[in-house]
Amino acid sequence: NLSKRLQLVADSVSRHARLADIGSDHAYLPVYLAQNHIIEFAIAGEVAQGPHQNATNEITKAGLETVISSRLGDGLAVIQANDHINTVTIAGMGGTLIANILEAGKEKLAGVSRLILQPNVGEDRVRRWLMQHDYRITGEQILAEDRHIYEIIVADRTSQPISYTDAQLLFGPLLLEKLPNSVFTKKWQAELQRVEKAIKQMKQAQQIPVEHIAELQQKSKLIKKVLQNEN
Ligand code: SAM
Repeated sequence: NLSKRLQLVADSVSRHARLADIGSDHAYLPVYLAQNHIIEFAIAGEVAQGPHQNATNEITKAGLETVISSRLGDGLAVIQANDHINTVTIAGMGGTLIANILEAGKEKLAGVSRLILQPNVGEDRVRRWLMQHDYRITGEQILAEDRHIYEIIVADRTSQPISYTDAQLLFGPLLLEKLPNSVFTKKWQAELQRVEKAIKQMKQAQQIPVEHIAELQQKSKLIKKVLQNEN
């Protein structure tokens, strides 16, 4: 059984997809999708030897070597043109790392119509990258599991330019439409405390560039506004 978090990622993978799961670790996600006959083919990509071995072992144990290819490599470099990948999942990493992986491998995304991304932090970095590369956000989920709060972002390639406001990038354009939401409130109340504390510390410290403080103050303002409007 998948975690609730990975189940939500799995639920956004279309039938007959050809998937690249980047940072697959145990390959739980592609193994589940193959066992349930949802995907046609998958690559389980890993940059680290240990997790790559975990993936290979799980795929072999499940007898799925013909459906899932376990590959060692950095980010999207494991994707080849003749794999005909149309869906990419990247889950369980920071948003900056996810955006960097997408940016470094963007020529591999030519045939990729859907990205399903689950950043652990820094969701705004991911949304900004999507906006700048013509992927429209078509699904967003927020969930609490094992004392963490996770967000899942589904994005589909579009030919129209997209523009999101700073608030939409920070909170999620679709999550903002589904308020009030108790998990969302909990996440942003905690984040507001963290930001306020950081502002205080920066003001006390010497030689912190004013624009760093201003950036956090802007963030604090946006969070307060969204929390107020929610109630
Ligand atoms: N995707 C699984 C999940 O969500 O449960 C595993 C997440 S695990 C916390 C993150 C994995 O990403 C690690 O196994 C790590 O080796 C891998 N990783 C980090 N940077 C990577 C990169 N540039 N390319 C491929 N894999 C990467």
